Amino acid sequence: MTVAGSIAEFLALKVTENALVPTMGALHEGHLSLVRAAKDAGLPVVVSIFVNPMQFGPNEDYSRYPRNLDHDVALLHQAGADFVFAPTVQDIYPRTGSKIMVPEVAERFEGSRRPGHFDGVATIVCKLFQITRPQMAIFGLKDLQQCAVIQRMVEDLNIRVELSFQPTLREPDGLAMSSRNVYLSPDQRRTAPALFHELSRTKNLIESGKNVENTLADARASLVSQGFELDYYDLIDRRTFSESRELSPHSAVITAVKLGTTRLIDNILIF
Ligand code: AMP
Repeated sequence: MTVAGSIAEFLALKVTENALVPTMGALHEGHLSLVRAAKDAGLPVVVSIFVNPMQFGPNEDYSRYPRNLDHDVALLHQAGADFVFAPTVQDIYPRTGSKIMVPEVAERFEGSRRPGHFDGVATIVCKLFQITRPQMAIFGLKDLQQCAVIQRMVEDLNIRVELSFQPTLREPDGLAMSSRNVYLSPDQRRTAPALFHELSRTKNLIESGKNVENTLADARASLVSQGFELDYYDLIDRRTFSESRELSPHSAVITAVKLGTTRLIDNILIF
């Protein structure tokens, strides 16, 4: 496995065909499952590690976001990645540059709570596509709205890349794996799995034909009573990322909550 610490170093490697897995590092099994999916595609695997300042708001955790490049490199070596691309911020953003803004799918939920977040995501992903020129790029459904934003950007801008979206890896108790789980106190960590249990309950009830509005209201009340500070918990259409009460193969329940200062997002697909 080869590690490139700058754009110039990466370009010098003359990597042609590849499957790209973009990450912000602090890798866990969820990230490694994307690497395995990339390997299954039979292409050399490039994993980018870049904590992207452009997708963090002024009061978010950019400076304290967990970083451990040596450990990440060791995990990626074990998982069979071929190249690690870990550029510096100066290298990626030498000046205030052009940015990509994706309409509609980026507007609600995470988009309205985190202004500019998806501009940052779309811009960095587009730049990574330009630098690494992948045939395929792999993302996790854990960040469902991010998947919708990237899919829309690729369609709108005719970017020639195949997208692959992989299921969320979870801890044995159901908590979605996330680099931010390290922020949870032991008490909060014990509470956190209830979020996925609630999502699973909601999925079962909706799929068995129960009233959607009542089911969502009950789930919201149950989460609040368990100590979650609720941001949103809603049934949406994944294509537009707007609220929808019509059930279809594009339906999903999405949620964002806070436990103390830590924000958790999760989702479950319906049908
Ligand atoms: P991040 O480093 O948080 O930006 O995540 C990098 C990629 O890993 C994104 O495509 C995420 O959706 C994906 N990812 C994060 N957590 C998980 C998980 N628990 N299961 C599967 N993929 C994940």
